[in-house]
Amino acid sequence: SAPGLAASAPTPLQVLREVFGYQEFRPGQQQVVQQVISGCDGLVIMPTGGGKSLCYQIPALVRPGLAVIVSPLIALMKDQVDSLRANGVAAAALHSALSREEQFDLYSALAKGDLKLLYVSPERLLLPDFLERLADWRLSLVAIDEAHCISQWGHDFRPEYAQLGCLKQRFPQIPLVALTATADDATRQDILARLGLQQPFIHLASFDRPNIRYSLIDKYKPNEQLVSYLDRQPGQCGIVYCTSRSRTEEVARFLRARNIRAACYHAGLPAAERNSVQEAFLRDDIDIVVATVAFGMGIDKPNVRFVVHYDLPKNIESYYQETGRAGRDGLSAEALLLYDPADTERLRRMLDSGEQNNPDQLRIEQFKLNLMAAFAEAQTCRRQVLLNYFGEYQSEPCGNCDICLDPPRTYDGSEDARKALSCVYRVGQRFGIGYVIEVLRGAQNQRVREQGHDKLSTFGIGKDRSHEHWLSVFRQLIHMGLLTQNITRHLTLQLTEAARPVLRGEQALQLAVPRLEVISSRKGRSR
Ligand code: ADP
Ligand code: ZN
Repeated sequence: SAPGLAASAPTPLQVLREVFGYQEFRPGQQQVVQQVISGCDGLVIMPTGGGKSLCYQIPALVRPGLAVIVSPLIALMKDQVDSLRANGVAAAALHSALSREEQFDLYSALAKGDLKLLYVSPERLLLPDFLERLADWRLSLVAIDEAHCISQWGHDFRPEYAQLGCLKQRFPQIPLVALTATADDATRQDILARLGLQQPFIHLASFDRPNIRYSLIDKYKPNEQLVSYLDRQPGQCGIVYCTSRSRTEEVARFLRARNIRAACYHAGLPAAERNSVQEAFLRDDIDIVVATVAFGMGIDKPNVRFVVHYDLPKNIESYYQETGRAGRDGLSAEALLLYDPADTERLRRMLDSGEQNNPDQLRIEQFKLNLMAAFAEAQTCRRQVLLNYFGEYQSEPCGNCDICLDPPRTYDGSEDARKALSCVYRVGQRFGIGYVIEVLRGAQNQRVREQGHDKLSTFGIGKDRSHEHWLSVFRQLIHMGLLTQNITRHLTLQLTEAARPVLRGEQALQLAVPRLEVISSRKGRSR
C-alpha cells in the first residue's frame, strides 16, 4: 500500500464497487488512480465521457484528508456534488452562488474535517485568504478539471487558470493532477509547464471513436442535402450544428415543414424553452435538434446516431467534441460535414474583425482554423488526420471514413477548366460563381438576356454538367489559385496569371470528382 495510507484504507476497486456501484475500471482509470494515490503529480487526457472524474474521486476517498477540485463552471460543480452525495460521499462546492449561511456551514464542516471533496472555482481558490485556509486543512490532493483553460493554446483560455501555478509552489508535497478532454501537444506542454508538475505521469487515452464514421460532402444546397440525408434514416436521432442562431431556427423550420420532428436550440432562447427541447430530445419526442455549439454540454444521450455539421466548425477540438456526441452507445454512428470553402473564408473574416484583440491568441485561432480547413480538404484518411491532431499516430487508414470507403478520384479537368475560365473572361470578370454557372449552363433568364450573355460563345457550353459539378470546378480553380474572388466587389471571379496556360490549352489540369453524396448508408440497420 502507498505511504501515508492507513492499513484500513479501502482499495480502489472496493471504492469503485461499493461507493460508485461500477464493477470494473475503464481502460486507463486504474493506473491513474494508483499513481495519484501513491502521491504522484499527473496529467490525464481523456476524451469527454471517458471517465475522468473517478480518476480523482477514488483517490480522494482512499487518501486521508480533503481533496480540492478546481472547476470552471458552477453548473459542472453542482452536477458532480449532487451525484457524489447521491452515492453517500461527503462533498461540497464553494462558489459565489452560496448564501452567507451556507458558506458558514461549509467552513465549519471543513474545519472539522468532515468533507472528503471540495469543488471550488479558480477565482475563489486564488483569494489570499482562501489559500491561507487551505494550508490549515489537511489536503489529500488537488485536481484541476478542464485544465486546458490554463493554456492560450487551449480553446477556452481563462486568465485566472493561468495563476494556478502557485499551487505547486505552496503545496509541493500534495499530489496535483490536471485533467482535460482536449489537448493537442502544444496545450499539453503548456499545462505541464504552467502548473509546474513534478515528474508527472502523463496518461493519454485514445481519442479514437471507431464506431463513428467521418464523412464529408460538398455543400451546395444544404437544406435539401440535409433532408435527403435524414430521409435515409427515418426516426433516428441526431444533432445538426449551425454557426448562427438565426440559421438554427431557419433550418429547424425547414425540417418541420418536411414532417421531420426537429427543434432548434441556442443560447438566445429562454431557459425554459431550452430545457424543454433538451428534455424532448432525451425522451426521443423529437428526432433532430438543430443547434449552435451551446447545445451538448453535459448531455449524455447514448443513441445519437449522427451529428451533422451544417457549417464548418472553427477548430478541430470543437469538431471532435461535437461529433463525439454521436454513438455513445458504441453502435455505429456518423459524423457528416457539409463543406463549402467559403465557410472557411467567412470564419477567417469573423476572426480578423472579431473581438479577439490579443494578437497571440488571434494567431493561434487562425492557425487552428487553417488546420480545420486542412482536415476538410484532406485527401487521406480523416481519422488519421483527426487523431494525428491529438498526437495519436495511426499507421493504417481506418476503413470507416469517406476517404477510405470512397477514395478521391480525379479526372482530366483541362476542358472543364478551360470552359469555366473562358466564361469568366467573357462575362468581363464582373460576376460571381452562381451567375457564371448560369451562363455556362445556358440559363434562359432575364438577367442573362439583359446582359447579352446569351450571345456569348461560352453560353451553354457547360449544359451537359450539373450546377453542382460546376460549383465544384470553380471551387477547385479558386483553391488552385487560377481564380480569385474579389471580396470587395461581391465575390466577383477574376483570372490570375496562373490561369493563362490552362486557358490557352498549354497546360493540363487534374480535378477531383466532386463529393456530392454521402457514400452509403450505414450497414446493418433496419428501417
Ligand atoms: P468525463 O469527465 O471524462 O467526461 P465522467 O467522469 O463524467 O467523464 O464519466 C462519464 C460517465 O461514465 C459517467 O456517467 C460515469 O459515471 C461513467 N463511468 C466512469 N467510469 C466508469 C466505470 N469504470 N464503469 C462504468 N461507468 C463509468
Ligand atoms: Zn479512414
